[in-house]
Amino acid sequence: MKIAVVRERTEGETRVAATPETVGKLIALGAEVAIEAGAGELARFPDADYKAAGASVGTADAALKGADIVLTVRRPKAAQLAGVAKGAMVIGGMDPYGNEGEVLALAQAGVTTVAMEFMPRITRAQVMDILSSQANLAGYQSVIDAAVHFDRAFPMMMTAAGTVRPAKAFVMGAGVAGLQAIATAKRLGAVVTATDVRAAAAEQVESLGGKFIMTDALKDASGTGGYARELTKDEQAAQAELVAGHISKQDIVITTALIPGRPAPKLVSKAMVESMAPGSVIVDLAAERGGNVELTVPGQVITTANGVTIIGYTNVAGRLATSASQLYARNLVAFLDIFFDKKTKAFAVNWDDELVKATVLTKDGAIVHPNIKIDGAAAAPAAKAADTTRPAAPAKTGATGKPAAPKKAAAPKASAAAKPAAPAKTGAAEKPARKPAAKKPAAAKDPK
Ligand code: NAD
Repeated sequence: MKIAVVRERTEGETRVAATPETVGKLIALGAEVAIEAGAGELARFPDADYKAAGASVGTADAALKGADIVLTVRRPKAAQLAGVAKGAMVIGGMDPYGNEGEVLALAQAGVTTVAMEFMPRITRAQVMDILSSQANLAGYQSVIDAAVHFDRAFPMMMTAAGTVRPAKAFVMGAGVAGLQAIATAKRLGAVVTATDVRAAAAEQVESLGGKFIMTDALKDASGTGGYARELTKDEQAAQAELVAGHISKQDIVITTALIPGRPAPKLVSKAMVESMAPGSVIVDLAAERGGNVELTVPGQVITTANGVTIIGYTNVAGRLATSASQLYARNLVAFLDIFFDKKTKAFAVNWDDELVKATVLTKDGAIVHPNIKIDGAAAAPAAKAADTTRPAAPAKTGATGKPAAPKKAAAPKASAAAKPAAPAKTGAAEKPARKPAAKKPAAAKDPK
């Protein structure tokens, strides 16, 4: 059983799907592990550490040759998998919505792809939940990014020269990322309020020391699987009224609201941004899915005419490449662990396992996941035939999952902010996800 990990080819991706720690675990389970030289460089895992953990380190071709499993952070292109074993499993974040043609190409390349973001949110799979592990870090980083752009202190400071009032932070969407943002802003000393459309979030916000605000008109918009449902027009209007009254008094706003398979709900209008004081900072963690803020430009930091900074970084977890890779890689090992026989060390996938059924996208040359539907042009005839019985896929989410380009942030321009949120390409002018160190950027050129 050979497991391969190569350097991520998606521009701006800093994370790696295996760390020296998880390589050791995979070998202990019974696998042989091959790593492409430099795969962990941007996440600060040197080749020597992978070697010391027992992996072979070499070219991408050597790593992939005959691999039974390829672990990845982002969906690879089919052409980047040449040489893998027939029916090899490719396991990682597949970002399938809006990318059905690419998924089809992987199916036609004969690999079995596993979309880790489809992992059911059940107790057994918590340890494999890449959305949670990465959202947790993104929630933390959102507050750090806000603090970097905020010209004032977060905590109340009582000095001989007088008192500095604490910053007021408002977190919209109190899921995994939002709760971590609340906890981080509290630790920095901000006065934190938060809102969500799921009533259950109230208790969680308050347990972290935040104040929960919600309109009486919106009782509970919980959907299935712990996620939110989309609001009705009346509910949206009630929520907008609540937010409009609150946001003008905030220094920091962190938005994290998402609805599975849908574009991010627009929660903060241009008028709301204009009501905020100069120097206020908004971090839109939903930028990768189109943004919660009307003026967000995915991948960019802009400053509006009235002096509000709006941070629209994508791949925020990738800004913490080491921590994000550590957690992500452990999520993958936890998933693989269930298929290794602990005595014989043999590997055998149970295709009837509910976790497998929920996550496998392609198998035996076809797309097999019920949520992924190919429409007309993208589909090859064989796949079309195989796909006709599937239910409609959720709507495309625009910029979803598009890579962040490792460019410098755009110089804040007041004029840019006067425009509505342009459907700019995600990552068009994003800072490198890593802090500027003496690092090579992720190679733009694909060796395959
Ligand atoms: P998510 O990323 O889909 O959404 C983020 C948050 O945005 C959610 O809390 C959602 O309710 C909120 N939201 C959606 N529309 C909104 C709107 N119009 N206004 C304000 N907020 C809005 O969700 P998530 O963070 O991945 O998880 C949601 C919940 O699922 C968590 O609170 C958690 O309790 C639960 N969860 C369970 C497990 C598990 O059991 N294994 C794992 C992870 C998360």
